[in-house]
Amino acid sequence: MKIAIIGFGAAAIGFIEKIKNSEHEIHIYERSKDIYSSSISGIRADGKLFVSKDMGGDLDIDLELQKKLVDFWIEKTNGGKYETGSSFSSLDYYQEFYAKGFQPIISDFYHLGTDQLKEVLYNIFEEYSSLSNIHFHFESPVSNIELAGNKVKLDYNETYDKVIVAVGRSGHKLVKTIIKQYPQIVLDSTKVDIGVRFELPNHIVEELNREMYEFKVRYKSKTGYMVRTFCNNPSGYVVTENYGDFITVNGHAKISEKSNNTNFAILTTVQLTEPFNDPIGYGSNIAELSNMLGGKKVMLQTYSHFKDSKRTKNLYRVFPTLPEKDYILGDINLAYPRRIIESIIDFIENLNKAIPGVAHPDNLVYAPEIKFYSNALSNSVFKNLKFVGDCSGFTRSIIYATAHGFTMGEEILNE
Ligand SMILES: Cc1cc2nc3c(=O)[nH]c(=O)nc-3n(C[C@H](O)[C@H](O)[C@H](O)COP(=O)(O)OP(=O)(O)OC[C@H]3O[C@@H](n4cnc5c(N)ncnc54)[C@H](O)[C@@H]3O)c2cc1C
Repeated sequence: MKIAIIGFGAAAIGFIEKIKNSEHEIHIYERSKDIYSSSISGIRADGKLFVSKDMGGDLDIDLELQKKLVDFWIEKTNGGKYETGSSFSSLDYYQEFYAKGFQPIISDFYHLGTDQLKEVLYNIFEEYSSLSNIHFHFESPVSNIELAGNKVKLDYNETYDKVIVAVGRSGHKLVKTIIKQYPQIVLDSTKVDIGVRFELPNHIVEELNREMYEFKVRYKSKTGYMVRTFCNNPSGYVVTENYGDFITVNGHAKISEKSNNTNFAILTTVQLTEPFNDPIGYGSNIAELSNMLGGKKVMLQTYSHFKDSKRTKNLYRVFPTLPEKDYILGDINLAYPRRIIESIIDFIENLNKAIPGVAHPDNLVYAPEIKFYSNALSNSVFKNLKFVGDCSGFTRSIIYATAHGFTMGEEILNE
């Protein structure tokens, strides 16, 4: 079979890994210039690999397969260096957070670090490009897909027996075009996570960082919204993320260089009902409004000012790891809906009961931090057009995306 994969990220890698030794002819279309490009793949920042049934996506992925894929990624580093730990494996911590109303999320994690990921991606690319049935096409963005009988046609006038779309979240334009043409593939589209990035001195969360590195909890706030921690970065750095139309905030940690602060996201899941059908538009508008107030920069506020809706003018004991040129001191309350702000404040105040010091007035709050969910797409409508990884709406992590690609490869081998 002649198969095209669009995108060279985690899901594509999982797929190729499974199918690389078969007789199938595999063509990879990647819009980035080359394997060194900073825009290629989601495997560029942080590289925390989770083994968990409770997070990473809405698929049932066997824990054994998840661990096997973690080992695959670790094997691709040059030195095999990583940090590791377990979230809420200790019953004491579990009970303590549970008693305060949190749902602790159990997971094992393995942290490769931003600095090692470049070589990981390069090593994988080097192996695949040496195989005679695998063909890379860089600088080849796909903007349209057309079903023609048993075949699938891409722009570039190439025709394939099967096309696997693995464009991640950054490939939303292509997915939008496909949905417009084939709306029957959409299963669900109502959710968006809107929140803030929280930064505080390491010593406040030192014990938790040491015990589990990545602490993950969910909490039903008094507003009824679910709020959760996401992407905890001990001794990490806050960074900005450019979506083109707007800039958001994110965080990461390195394996060698360390800061004095810990950052994590606090996200509120907004799930609306009819006639709402544009979660990406809703999140984008909030992000754009924040950027408008911040003069195209992300907003930074102390926690006490965030709570009291006052513009922050000076910082006190906690200093941001995000460079000064990238933020403006402001008031996030002018951009965020009240229900989201109240959910976040309720979460932090309650978290303070489990981790004293989290609600210190001078801890830092950055916005906008927004996580978009892709529309959930069906893989049963067409036999020769499939969606894997984050663009399918079913995954949100490296391991789940890799596993989704891997199981799709398995399915094709079994056909
Ligand atoms: C800043 C940041 C940090 C993250 N940290 C972690 C983490 O520590 N742990 C974790 O588990 N997850 C993390 N994630 C999430 C993780 O990166 C994704 O869940 C995962 O990479 C999804 O894999 P994917 O293959 O679906 O998409 P991606 O890995 O994003 O790959 C998609 C590829 O498709 C290409 N592409 C897009 N559109 C087109 C087109 N039209 N034509 C051709 N090519 C196209 C892109 O250039 C890209 O190379 C992070 C995400 C971000 C943004």
